[in-house]
Amino acid sequence: MCAGARGEFLSNECRLSVTQKRSLCVNTTPYWLDTAKIKTFPPLSEDITVDVLVVGGGITGLTTAYLLKEAGMTVAVAERKQLATIDTGHTTAHLTHVTDLRLREMVKNFGKDHAQAAWDAGAAAIDQIEELVRKEKIECEFTRVPGYLHAPVNGGTKDERESFREDAALANELGFDATYLGIVPKMQTPGVRFANQAKFHPRKYLAALAAAIPGKGSHVFEETAISKLDDEKHRAKANAQFPPRFAQRSGYSIRVSSVSICG
Ligand SMILES: Cc1cc2nc3c(=O)[nH]c(=O)nc-3n(C[C@H](O)[C@H](O)[C@H](O)COP(=O)(O)OP(=O)(O)OC[C@H]3O[C@@H](n4cnc5c(N)ncnc54)[C@H](O)[C@@H]3O)c2cc1C
Repeated sequence: MCAGARGEFLSNECRLSVTQKRSLCVNTTPYWLDTAKIKTFPPLSEDITVDVLVVGGGITGLTTAYLLKEAGMTVAVAERKQLATIDTGHTTAHLTHVTDLRLREMVKNFGKDHAQAAWDAGAAAIDQIEELVRKEKIECEFTRVPGYLHAPVNGGTKDERESFREDAALANELGFDATYLGIVPKMQTPGVRFANQAKFHPRKYLAALAAAIPGKGSHVFEETAISKLDDEKHRAKANAQFPPRFAQRSGYSIRVSSVSICG
């Protein structure tokens, strides 16, 4: 029940109108969580050995684990809550190589080569998602769409036309398909159109990757928090209690060659 719907929460002075109450009663569950189920996985319940422990079951961890398994390694994903419910479950899910830092700024701070490398990496990441969608036949609404960078819809405080022209020209020079627009569709403000970006349903996509990880010595665990990494012993500890309760085993060990921290 939402705050304000129960009268006892509110004094007479701050009683809300029906409309105000309704506006407080919005469902804040992300669309992605509401519209895709990911199979659940058990917590770690014994000591195990794998080549790589992947800490975190968001898009970074699940992609890493999937690719490592594809490369012939055994992996264990340890997720302390449920898969793809934290940042990955709350994302807007725009797949774009356009960084939050404007291209002009990036070139000014790091040079053209590094700016190009950062954008190339983003483009390669989108290509990889597209490739996995095709290879695993994942129905996750992956669609190539243009992406738009534009001035604030209320017009903002400064005239950004020149800076958008510069960003578009720089992007072209670095090999990216970008076009300056005097008016961005629906926004009625100037901006840049970047071709070949994409959108998808992240949890439908990750449900398929997660399902492909277990087996042949690889595992996915939920409710499994990694609390300690021991470099020398090549061992990680999961679900350990500090201090351990008397006569009770405290957590389980994962023997590993490498650890990938994705949490
Ligand atoms: C509102 C919002 C909008 C966004 N929009 C976009 C967008 O449009 N495009 C875009 O590219 N990006 C966007 N992002 C960013 C993007 O969602 C994140 O960069 C991405 O989801 C991060 O994924 P991740 O796997 O690295 O992290 P997470 O999804 O947070 O996963 C990390 C996981 O690690 C687990 N973990 C942490 N510590 C431990 C431990 N000790 N043991 C076991 N597990 C552990 C956590 O429980 C968590 O599940 C947005 C983010 C937000 C919040």
